[in-house]
Amino acid sequence: MHIPSLSVDRVRQALLGRECSAAELTAEALRFAETENPKTHAYLTFCPERAMAAAARVDAALARGEDPGPLAGVPIAVKDVIVTRGVRTTCGSRLLAEYIPPYDATAVIRLEAAGGIILGKTNCDEFAMGSSNENSAFGPVRNPVAPDRVPGGSSGGSAAVVAQGTAVLSLGSDTGGSIRQPASFCGITGVTPTYGRVSRYGLTAFASSLDHIGPFARSVKDAATLLQVISGRDPHDATCADAPVPDYSAHLTGNVKGLKLGLPVEYLRHLTSETGDLILKGVEQLKALGCEVREISLPATEYAIACYYIIATAEASSNLARYDGVRYTSRSTHSGTLSEMYRNTRGEGFGAECKRRIMLGTYVLSAGYYDAYYLKAQKVRTLIARDFANAFAEVDAVVAPVSPFPAFKLGEKVDDPLAMYLSDIFTITGSLAGIPCMSVPCGNTAEGLPVGMQILTKHFDETTMFRLAGAFEQSQIQNQTH
Ligand code: GLN
Repeated sequence: MHIPSLSVDRVRQALLGRECSAAELTAEALRFAETENPKTHAYLTFCPERAMAAAARVDAALARGEDPGPLAGVPIAVKDVIVTRGVRTTCGSRLLAEYIPPYDATAVIRLEAAGGIILGKTNCDEFAMGSSNENSAFGPVRNPVAPDRVPGGSSGGSAAVVAQGTAVLSLGSDTGGSIRQPASFCGITGVTPTYGRVSRYGLTAFASSLDHIGPFARSVKDAATLLQVISGRDPHDATCADAPVPDYSAHLTGNVKGLKLGLPVEYLRHLTSETGDLILKGVEQLKALGCEVREISLPATEYAIACYYIIATAEASSNLARYDGVRYTSRSTHSGTLSEMYRNTRGEGFGAECKRRIMLGTYVLSAGYYDAYYLKAQKVRTLIARDFANAFAEVDAVVAPVSPFPAFKLGEKVDDPLAMYLSDIFTITGSLAGIPCMSVPCGNTAEGLPVGMQILTKHFDETTMFRLAGAFEQSQIQNQTH
């Protein structure tokens, strides 16, 4: 079987048709992933024992004549900020280089219960802070499409494995764009569901009010299948909504006639010309499919980056306080007193970006500055959410770019944090509003660099988002073959 082009359906067909066993497929997928990994450094850890045990369960179910589940035998990778029992989970941090979690994240339990096979854990920016994957303590990931470029971040490894074909699906996490932006940079599909759609239990906290788990896939349908499996209420996460989970794949009808789409004028101002051209071409394609497109305004957009980098750092400074050398992490060995031990452990363990954010977050929460920064940012967050609510009173979905530019060169922005933060300008608004948003491939630049189109819908309306993305994907494929 050709591992790098597998889909969920193809794996299912192979297993049910007895072309191969789940064990054979898993062994081959692991071999392929281990051989190819040095090209991108996307996997940090492989877990062959866990993978083979999961495959054996699938084969046993098949032998009993049972349905082995919607993800049966499908090779999946998991971002290394999502905990896996007995399998090292580093969060891309030197502090957690040896950390072995005692439990599984809910999303991990669910995907294995659906027959999915976890091959390993993927590289990412330290504690998911970054837009290029260059903040990982274990070294950067290379973009499989252009190895001298970044895969995007922070879920760079999860995007790269799917683009490279060393996994069929992967889980990433998105706080301000970390699923959509790497999906766009690597030419695949990435989905940030509604806040509360997927349990965060077992997702290492970065900015809890913004953190999401979501899927990467090579097709909209595969992404929808994975999201379906991991969605839904979880008693372990009080912010996880008790809302019915529709059958997303059933809505991939290809029919989007009459859907009303909004194109935010504010988002068209900051684009490089090639990205802008591809997005506008994509919009024309959507019109050809029968969608009605109108310009809309999201006026609070200009404050989004400032707002996000206050709220996210404030929450991060609190969440990261737990890594103190007593719990979870390695401990500095040469300290005379307790407070020296805290200081040395954190000083030696955290990378520069985490330290920058801890300081910024502590500052905006401190007495005297709280009202001026944190409280103000919370008010702006409400305005941003309101912008979307107003838009959705008129349109069914918003279409937009994902990133102002395609994948940039490794090292290009690493010394300029503010330029790096600007990569997130179009993704942060959806995260702050908590609405579902995704990136779907929208063509390549002349140099062959992928550009993604972003689709955003109302809270819990993933169905319309997938329907539109599925129709767009089909029309992209037809365009390419003609
Ligand atoms: N790039 C953004 C940041 O650095 C978003 C990260 C994320 O979504 N995890 O915070």
